[in-house]
Amino acid sequence: MHIIKRFIDLKRLLDDKQRRSPNQIVGFVPTMGALHEGHISLIKESCTDCDMSICSIFVNPTQFGESNDLEKYPKPIEKDIELLIDIGCDVLFLPTVEEVYPPSYTQQNFDLIGLDIVFEGKSRVGHFQGVCNVIYRFFDQIKPHRAYFGQKDFQQTVVVKKLVNITSLNTKICVVPIKREPNGLAMSSRNVRLSDNGRKKAAFINESLRLIKNNFREIGLSKSIDLAKKHILKYDNAKLDYLVVAETDTLKGVETYENKKLVALTAVNYEGVRLLDNIILT
Ligand code: AMP
Repeated sequence: MHIIKRFIDLKRLLDDKQRRSPNQIVGFVPTMGALHEGHISLIKESCTDCDMSICSIFVNPTQFGESNDLEKYPKPIEKDIELLIDIGCDVLFLPTVEEVYPPSYTQQNFDLIGLDIVFEGKSRVGHFQGVCNVIYRFFDQIKPHRAYFGQKDFQQTVVVKKLVNITSLNTKICVVPIKREPNGLAMSSRNVRLSDNGRKKAAFINESLRLIKNNFREIGLSKSIDLAKKHILKYDNAKLDYLVVAETDTLKGVETYENKKLVALTAVNYEGVRLLDNIILT
């Protein structure tokens, strides 16, 4: 596996590969490291679909509101490298903050028609503009044919599709299903910050979403959302940020479900750790 730290070296490698065997499909998996089976499933999908797969590890400072969360972000780079070699990833792109954002760089403000200011964007102001800046920079430099994102960060997939749509980027966004721990908790690099007991109990987050999925046709959306909220609030140390049902492509909140493609999305703060989950309803 090549480990590359500068865009110029990555572009040189890609050009070289294209010269030797033209029309190679390049797949890209952006991550912030502390890799787990969720990330691995994205990279495996890229390796299956593409001739060459690049995984980036970059803890993007512009998408973190509280610097505290940024500092606490786990960074087990040696273990990540081993995992990437084991699954046959071709390139690890490991840039520094200065490489991604040189002094001449000015943060862009993308018009995401409001997709960036609801739900996660409301609690983490500026988060999705930060995500879009780093993704734009990576896609613009690397020009991957396909990029892989997890359904786990559902709103991010909608935002990134919009970004591609409103810019001249030519990358196909592929969404990969959520990998879960055996108890149903969505895998996340942040799960290591939960206590052992908390990690077991945190199954209640996915249970609450399944309560909506299993009941909304019979009792309606609003009552099933109430059931789910009550389930979450039974747990000490759980603070509900949001639990909403929205249209999958516009993220507009809905009251009724007829003929719409819907997703239930939640963010819960549990033992001081922000945990996200979602479930497709229709
Ligand atoms: P992160 O390192 O948290 O920025 O995540 C990098 C990518 O992995 C994002 O596209 C995430 O949505 C995806 N991802 C994170 N956790 C999971 C999971 N449990 N299942 C599937 N994809 C995931």
